[in-house]
Amino acid sequence: MITFGIDIGSTTSKCVVMEDGQNILGSSLLVGGIGTKSPELAVSQALEAAGVTWDDLTATAATGYGRNRYEGADYNVSELSCHGLGAHHTFPTVRTIIDIGGQDAKVISLDEKGRMHNFLMNDKCAAGTGRFLDVMANILVVPVDEFASYCEKANNPAQISSTCTVFAESEVISQLANGVEMEDLIAGICSSVAVRVGNLAKRINIVPDVCMSGGVAQNAGVRNALSQSIGQPILFSPQAQLFGAIGAALYAYQKEAK
Ligand code: ADP
Repeated sequence: MITFGIDIGSTTSKCVVMEDGQNILGSSLLVGGIGTKSPELAVSQALEAAGVTWDDLTATAATGYGRNRYEGADYNVSELSCHGLGAHHTFPTVRTIIDIGGQDAKVISLDEKGRMHNFLMNDKCAAGTGRFLDVMANILVVPVDEFASYCEKANNPAQISSTCTVFAESEVISQLANGVEMEDLIAGICSSVAVRVGNLAKRINIVPDVCMSGGVAQNAGVRNALSQSIGQPILFSPQAQLFGAIGAALYAYQKEAK
C-alpha cells in the first residue's frame, strides 16, 4: 500500500511517499509554505522522486500549519501527532521530541509505544523559533545552513540579552558595529534559541532518548547548545525536517490498514 504525507509549514512544504508504512519511496522539501505554490510543487516532486502517480496512492494525509487550506488529502492530522509518529518511526527509543520549526517550538512526550501523552508549545514569540534564526541570517547575510560551521569556530560566544526578536536584531547590529567576531555572534544567536527552547523543555519531564524534529534540527549549533541546556544527548536524523510528513504518511497507512 502506498500512502502520502504532506506537511505544509509556515516556511517550508515537505512531502513523503511511503510503502506499507515502512519504506520511504520518495520525498521533497521546498522552501515556501502556506499561501505559496510550494505545496503543489512539493507534491509533484515527491511523486516523481518515488516514480509513482497520484492514482497509485491509497490515501493521503495533510499536517502542518497550512493543513486546513489543503483540499487534496483524505485525512487532516495535527502536527503534534505527526511529529510523534515520524520520530518514533525513525528512533523507536525516543520519549521526548523537541521540534523547532519556522514559527513555533514544541516539546512532545511519548510513551514507550510512541503515543503522545504530553506537550508544551511556544507559538507566541518568535525568539526560540526558526524565525529568530532567519531574521538574524538576513541581517548578517549568512545563510542558516552555514550557522553550524561558524559556531564550531567560536571562541567567545556573544551574549544576546534581548528577549524580543526586534530588540535582539538591534543588539546584533550594535555588536557587529562594536567588532564582535561573526562566529561569536552566530554562536550567541544559536545559543539564545537553544536556551529559550531548553527552558521550555525543562517544564516537562525530559525522558531520554531525546531527538529533535523540524528544520532547525539541521543546525548543529542549536543542537549542541540545546543538548548542553537540557543536559541530555540529542539524537539527530538528516530527515528530521521530514518527520511531520513521515508521520502523516504513517497515519494514512495506519487508518487504511484497519
Ligand atoms: P515550518 O514547518 O514551520 O515551515 P520547518 O520545520 O520546515 O518549519 O523549519 C524551518 C526552519 O528550519 C527555518 O526557519 C530555518 O531556520 C531552519 N532550517 C531549514 N533548513 C536548514 C538548514 N539546512 N540548516 C539550518 N537550519 C535550517
